Amino acid sequence: MPIATERTEPVEQGHSTAQREQAQRRAQEAGLAAARLTAEGVRTVALTWVDVAGLTRVKVVPTTRLAQVAAHGVGMSPVFDVYLVDDSVTSSPYIGGPDGDLRLIPDLDRLTVLAAQPGWAWAPVDRFEQSGQPYDACQRQFARRMTERAAERGIELRMGFETEWIVDPPLAGPAYGMARVVERSAYVGDVVAALEAQGIEVLQIHPEYTPGQFEVSVAPADPVGAADLAVLVRETIRAVSLQHGLTPWFGPVVDPEGVGNGGHVHFSLWQDGRNLCRGGDGPCGMTPTSEAFLAGILDALPALLAIGAPTPASYLRLAPSRWAGAFQCWGPENREAALRFVPGPPGAEGAANAEVKSFDPAANPYLVTGSLIAAGLAGLDAGLRLPEPVSGDPVNADGARRLPASLPEALSRFTESAELREALGDRLFEAIVSVRQAETKLFDGHSPQEIAEATRGRY
Ligand code: GLU
Ligand code: MG
Repeated sequence: MPIATERTEPVEQGHSTAQREQAQRRAQEAGLAAARLTAEGVRTVALTWVDVAGLTRVKVVPTTRLAQVAAHGVGMSPVFDVYLVDDSVTSSPYIGGPDGDLRLIPDLDRLTVLAAQPGWAWAPVDRFEQSGQPYDACQRQFARRMTERAAERGIELRMGFETEWIVDPPLAGPAYGMARVVERSAYVGDVVAALEAQGIEVLQIHPEYTPGQFEVSVAPADPVGAADLAVLVRETIRAVSLQHGLTPWFGPVVDPEGVGNGGHVHFSLWQDGRNLCRGGDGPCGMTPTSEAFLAGILDALPALLAIGAPTPASYLRLAPSRWAGAFQCWGPENREAALRFVPGPPGAEGAANAEVKSFDPAANPYLVTGSLIAAGLAGLDAGLRLPEPVSGDPVNADGARRLPASLPEALSRFTESAELREALGDRLFEAIVSVRQAETKLFDGHSPQEIAEATRGRY
């Protein structure tokens, strides 16, 4: 396996005075944080990022090294961006092979003591070149760049991921059934308690359709923050599940014949503290900005599936009549539409939002938030309008096209998208193409059951 040898000391040549000063400031801040963590008994800090295949990768450092790591980063090979779901490795025009190293720099603003892993803390990282320059294929910085692009247009995004998962062994209680909560009330309570202890605002948690399936939603955040939360929420659920003797499955499908796990994303647009999904004279009371943004996303959905439904297993889930959003259409409170508009209750101006239902938990959440913004802004630039909304089952509706039913189909739409290529940059764009092609090949000729079994426990 081509993993680069890690340097123990950072390369200082080429670093500007400004970069060195920034590193010093980070070290100071991290030193204070480390002292606080040590006093709380935290010995180890998990530093995570999410690769192109959608797997969360980690480097762990002792708390005593946090200041040094905040200043100079910890090393990791760029090759992980061409890893597949089974840890085999492909290559892309810009990434591959054993050479090179990147520095992972923790975002100290997100440093969190982990409630379900005593003695541990966590922080997401941004990835940098050894020269100190931002790495242009860093998924988290891509999400931040797109957030800044929206901000340049005066638009602030609030986003939130729903997390669905299925526990093994499954539970006897019915879908949405109180019996399932009673069966595992200590577990469900511990999931909520751990999330809240980490400062996460839990909106709701409930048993979902498939035996042993649950869903939790948390309060919206800025796009990078929402993606960070998606990672933290999942790893917290994983830790609590294992404590309770349950294996959590976050793959898109566990049983290809049944309802799978969605990774639905909610978003709303804001300007000067006002929710642009409300108070306009567009469809469902949207403002023109909000309508064009949604229209951009709806238009780009076939291509966006290469980001949001990134693996062959995704297409075992993305089927009609499973509330998975298999049709390219939108509708108010339509749970079969790929884009569901949620008007929110009267008087709750902040609650109106839109939800992309077609995406699943195999998606890299940073790529998801960033590319949704890129597609929405392209809609704004083109002055797109939404088509007529669809009510009822889209299978019967005129103009509601089926979204790509396979990864190669989605990928061919993705490769045609000049907007997404420009937004992601060539290096990241090509890595996505290569990983999707390689995962298609990996599962070629495998039965749905084999694909489900090979992927359900990987994410
Ligand atoms: N589990 C469904 C999915 O695959 C979603 C059900 C729901 O609407 O929450 O997306
Ligand atoms: Mg759900």
